[in-house]
Amino acid sequence: MLNIVIFGAPGSGKGTQSELIIKKYNLHHISTGEILRQEIDNQTEFGRLAAQYTNQGHFVPDDVIIKMFAEVLDKTQHSKGYIFDGFPRNILQATTLDNLLRERKMPIVAAFSLTVEDADVIERLTRRGKLTGRADDNIETIKHRLEVYKEHTEPLKDYYKKQGKLFIIKGDNSIENVFDEISQVIDRLLYLQ
Ligand code: AMP
Repeated sequence: MLNIVIFGAPGSGKGTQSELIIKKYNLHHISTGEILRQEIDNQTEFGRLAAQYTNQGHFVPDDVIIKMFAEVLDKTQHSKGYIFDGFPRNILQATTLDNLLRERKMPIVAAFSLTVEDADVIERLTRRGKLTGRADDNIETIKHRLEVYKEHTEPLKDYYKKQGKLFIIKGDNSIENVFDEISQVIDRLLYLQ
């Protein structure tokens, strides 16, 4: 099984790259941000709760997001593997994910960290905000999300490095070039499996 984590600053392209990866390698995509946006769009009770955090660029509390994630994981059974996009976002979520996957005997084989300069993040997300109207893509919230990313998510680099699973990919190349680099890593991992 090929289970992959992808993380990076907001706007680093993790959603775009995840879509390309699932198509090429036939994996199942779990994007916590996407699930939250669907709940918010459908105006469910859970969505209304989540929006109070996401609209400000805050994390949804760990207990809430972990419960949601575990339920989604239980509902899907995919033998080829998963790509976890936007979860984990901090060390507690990473250790929780490891425990959940250990129970299911499906460990993570690679964690991709997509790196992008702050100025590019701000430029990309303000453009996306204008195009899509996404509620958290406004300058104040973008800056806050970047701070939160640095404080809480960036430590995942050390976490996965210690496990020998970290692959740092420069996210400011073209979509094709970034995908090419990721594919080379995945192909090597598949060869070794
Ligand atoms: P994303 O689409 O991954 O950028 O996520 C959008 C927003 O959803 C984030 O800014 C958070 O507010 C929330 N979110 C997504 N995943 C998580 C998570 N694993 N933990 C906490 N909040 C999350």
